[in-house]
Amino acid sequence: MDIHHRAEIISVGNELLRGEITDTNAGFLASQLPLLGIELNRMTTAGDDIRQLRETLERAQEKADIVLVTGGLGPTADDLTREAIAAVTGEEPTVDAALENNLRQLFGRMRQEMPPHNIKQAWLIPSAEALDNPLGTAPGWWVRKNGKTIAAMPGPPREMTIMWRNEVAPRLRKILSKQVILSRTFKTYGIPEAEVAEMVQSFFESENPSLGIYAHLDGIHLRFVARGNDAGQLLRNAGEQLDEIFGSRIWGRDDDSLEGLIGGWLGKTGLTLATIEDGTTGTIANLLSTTPGSARYYRGGLVTGSDATKIAFGVPPEVIATYGPVSPEVAGIMAAMIRERFSADIGLSTSGISQKSTVKGEPPGLTYVGVSDASGEKTWGHNFARFRDPSGQREAYGALFRLRERLIELKIA
Ligand code: AMP
Ligand code: MG
Repeated sequence: MDIHHRAEIISVGNELLRGEITDTNAGFLASQLPLLGIELNRMTTAGDDIRQLRETLERAQEKADIVLVTGGLGPTADDLTREAIAAVTGEEPTVDAALENNLRQLFGRMRQEMPPHNIKQAWLIPSAEALDNPLGTAPGWWVRKNGKTIAAMPGPPREMTIMWRNEVAPRLRKILSKQVILSRTFKTYGIPEAEVAEMVQSFFESENPSLGIYAHLDGIHLRFVARGNDAGQLLRNAGEQLDEIFGSRIWGRDDDSLEGLIGGWLGKTGLTLATIEDGTTGTIANLLSTTPGSARYYRGGLVTGSDATKIAFGVPPEVIATYGPVSPEVAGIMAAMIRERFSADIGLSTSGISQKSTVKGEPPGLTYVGVSDASGEKTWGHNFARFRDPSGQREAYGALFRLRERLIELKIA
């Protein structure tokens, strides 16, 4: 079973073409399709013009078996989505008695006479099923003909999203239910993207599983998507091959986070951690303390803004004077000091130079990381200057990877 579903999205409305409103509907729908395993071919914006709409629908159906349309379901003469779908399917719209009844009741509840042109919103063609719109007068259309599907939804985003969730997505899921789609992400660290791409080159020729490569702050991610009844086996095979290629440089999978893994190890062994950051703007403290359950092992952290703070907390001024504030010596002492001050088993420090300043001729972006534990201090130097953003997020992840390395060395991981 390897049916590949492809979709197109058509946004309808002159106001979109004029730039008067931004097309948020297409973006929303595009974000939903991967969750169903549907590949999106193309997104198009069409004006309120019957010929253009008809052509756009026909062109979409050449390559896609699922077409999602939003807009043009209003009651006025320029709302032409129903007319265009009727033309493409070669069917005649007629007034559906049940829909007309609903519509009249809706207007009745608003104590209004139904304007005659609203009767369009009670139309159906033989291949169409009406989709309930709890927030407006325009029902959607679910059209199935010759193996193709068209789902037409109203333009107002609130009406569209609720109809998508309640009516369209469940129907699509039913069509797709026989298809198995699985994905798995493998997370690498410490290898540049271009090099990772080269190492997995052979996978790029494969369609099933297909491979995507994504750069993140916590390293380069490799995402495999496999289809069909043997999708699970295909992913296992790919995983084994990746293990051979990358070994321990794959640090996690799928939803694994670095701070979550570190937290898991600490929690299991009952060890505690404290941090002190200079140049990483509290990113490490943020990552650790937003991890569920971290109160058990994370004692807390300091974010230092100046040498005076470091000195006040116990870094000897002569060490800073001799080696400079950004040095392995200072990073080591910071880690040891925070470990002691916060009564933790492990201390983690960063000491970094921001983009602009240069300390003692050191290049901007240079960061030292220190880890202190019962067996002493270890330090490392990093320079991600080319990528440096003022928040030092990349440097923060760099430090957490060093901590991970140390925990593995100490057999805590
Ligand atoms: P329609 O269904 O074409 O009458 O659209 C009604 C209203 O929905 C428009 O005036 C817009 O305010 C909104 N709308 C329509 N299409 C979109 C879209 N693609 N993205 C965001 N809002 C939209
Ligand atoms: Mg419109």
